[in-house]
Amino acid sequence: MTEKLYYKNAYETKFKATVLALEKAKEDCYHIILDKTLFYPEGGGQPGDKGILGMVSVFDVHEKNGEIIHYADGPLAVGAEVDGEIDWGHRFDLMQNHSGEHIISGVICKKYGCDNVGFHMGRESITIDFNTQIPQEDLPWLEDAANQAIWENTPIGISYPEKEELEALEYRSKKELTGEVRIVKAGEYDCCACCGTHVKLAGEIGMIKVIGAQNYKGGTRLELICGKRGLDYFQKIHQAAKEVGIALSVQEEKIGNGVQKLLDERDANIQELKKWKWEAFLNRIEKLPKDTENVLIIEEGLSGKDMVALADLAAEKTNGRAMVATPWETGLQFVLVSRKKDAKELAEELRKSFDLKGGGKDGSIQGKLKGNKAEIIEFFEEKGFVLAK
Ligand SMILES: [Zn+2]
Repeated sequence: MTEKLYYKNAYETKFKATVLALEKAKEDCYHIILDKTLFYPEGGGQPGDKGILGMVSVFDVHEKNGEIIHYADGPLAVGAEVDGEIDWGHRFDLMQNHSGEHIISGVICKKYGCDNVGFHMGRESITIDFNTQIPQEDLPWLEDAANQAIWENTPIGISYPEKEELEALEYRSKKELTGEVRIVKAGEYDCCACCGTHVKLAGEIGMIKVIGAQNYKGGTRLELICGKRGLDYFQKIHQAAKEVGIALSVQEEKIGNGVQKLLDERDANIQELKKWKWEAFLNRIEKLPKDTENVLIIEEGLSGKDMVALADLAAEKTNGRAMVATPWETGLQFVLVSRKKDAKELAEELRKSFDLKGGGKDGSIQGKLKGNKAEIIEFFEEKGFVLAK
């Protein structure tokens, strides 16, 4: 059993230990066991520590049968005494986030009588799963209630109660555990069985911020950030809001309205543009010779909807056939409407000459043609189509 120094003092960063065992797991990965360690192994939702051991780097830590295995990038001599130092920035970030997670879980579980049924500390944020649906409108005040613990600088204490005391105690994660149970208590905010490392005073958490909530397996999955992550997030979002505000010439807190106004203007412009586009189309159809029965219109940048509408309109006008096409990669994309009900016949010919991909009914066909634009125009002109100018 490795002696767990991180439980004696979660703030200690340097230690000396003796190497008891070494195993090469794979290339650039050695498993090292010491007599004692400050390196916290992954567990209770908290990732393992990182740091330096002698001359090697420790990039992950796991616990197996009471032994703590340091995953290092190099070997150490068995029997040697080595200096160890954990990456305090990494550890303190985990302590801030883990303690913040306890407090908001305590607040939420107390309020809704629910359980925290899943917890994951990711590189960017923490996710917590609750087996209840938390109303979106409750999130701001739940966040306030959790941050109240920070403003009060609530002490966070660790204890190992005796069996009887433990049985009488109300705490989260209460299971039939054998051996001693480690209780982490944050004043009146939370009491929970936990094996992780925590800050001593809630003030050190700095900030508890919910950044997302979604329905998950019938309950709610909250996304949370605490500590410096909270400040980093605020700085990032604030900078983005500032940039949008400058671009829109509105105050940062009003960028939502500014963007909505811009979208409304865009939609109005699209409508206006559509109107003009149709005027132009109608104009071209009006200009066709009086007895035109078959019309061919080729225009860049037409959408599928545009082509259908324009072909319908043109066929109605000529009471014959209308082929509307727009260039695409290696040919034309088209819609052909025929009031003569012979579009399928034309499709067969197009399949042979221009490798038509698509089809339809006698009244209309649509698809893609492969080939040179001039050749396609020639094909239709031979069939008596007039190219609209
Ligand atoms: Zn915990």
